[in-house]
Amino acid sequence: MAGCANKRIFGAVIQDMNRMKKIRIAIDGFSSCGKSTMAKSLARAIGYTYIDSGAMYRAVTLYSMEHGIFEGDAIDTDRLCRELADIHISFRINPATGLPETYLNGENVESRIRGMEVSAKVSPISALGFVREAMVEQQQRLGQEGGIVMDGRDIGTTVFPDAELKIFVTASPEVRAQRRYDELKAKGMEANFDEVLANVKQRDYIDQHREVSPLRKAEDAILLDNTHLTIGQQQQWLLERYDEASK
Ligand code: C5P
Repeated sequence: MAGCANKRIFGAVIQDMNRMKKIRIAIDGFSSCGKSTMAKSLARAIGYTYIDSGAMYRAVTLYSMEHGIFEGDAIDTDRLCRELADIHISFRINPATGLPETYLNGENVESRIRGMEVSAKVSPISALGFVREAMVEQQQRLGQEGGIVMDGRDIGTTVFPDAELKIFVTASPEVRAQRRYDELKAKGMEANFDEVLANVKQRDYIDQHREVSPLRKAEDAILLDNTHLTIGQQQQWLLERYDEASK
């Protein structure tokens, strides 16, 4: 009898340990789908680290704009390639909000990388093969230990092709533009709805048609169309997927 009870307790402990297995969660999808909102709240709920891979491409874009590497429509790719090693991107938690913020060479650039100027220029920068190679290498290093939720465009296909849970998010361009517009306004930033919509569509196009790691759903990713979902419904759905994947 005692042996049976022990087996049961032992089994339960093993089950718990397995449940605690730190997995990698890849959340990919179109611009302004609310990927980062969902990735952040999922990471917080399950005690994982959240990494916003888009912020890394945005930081490289900001650097290029501020150092005369990206002027007008022209990118000085030779210079960017040479200077890439000098671009140090990190994330630090803001103690007041509990949320990670992006640092570029030690300077907090969180708000500057979110503006329309960077949004308008980030897709051409992130289409450059050597930029992607450098970012992917850093992202893979950050996810080495598991226990990570990373959102982006190529996380399930290129960064962590063997991630235990992959989600691909989509929603109509209009709904996405409205969300981005509301977000910019809430932050007190300049925004025009038509411009935001045009930017969302343009980024979709460039992200899907670039040669290196184009945006596409990994075959084993679960599709989530959140056009008609509330944040609460979405979070519940994600927690269920996490439960299944981490068993
Ligand atoms: O996620 P977010 O919209 O902030 O990303 C900004 C841009 O960075 C995207 O439009 C895309 O061009 C690029 N990106 C990418 N690969 C990623 C994440 C973002 O190409 N993994």
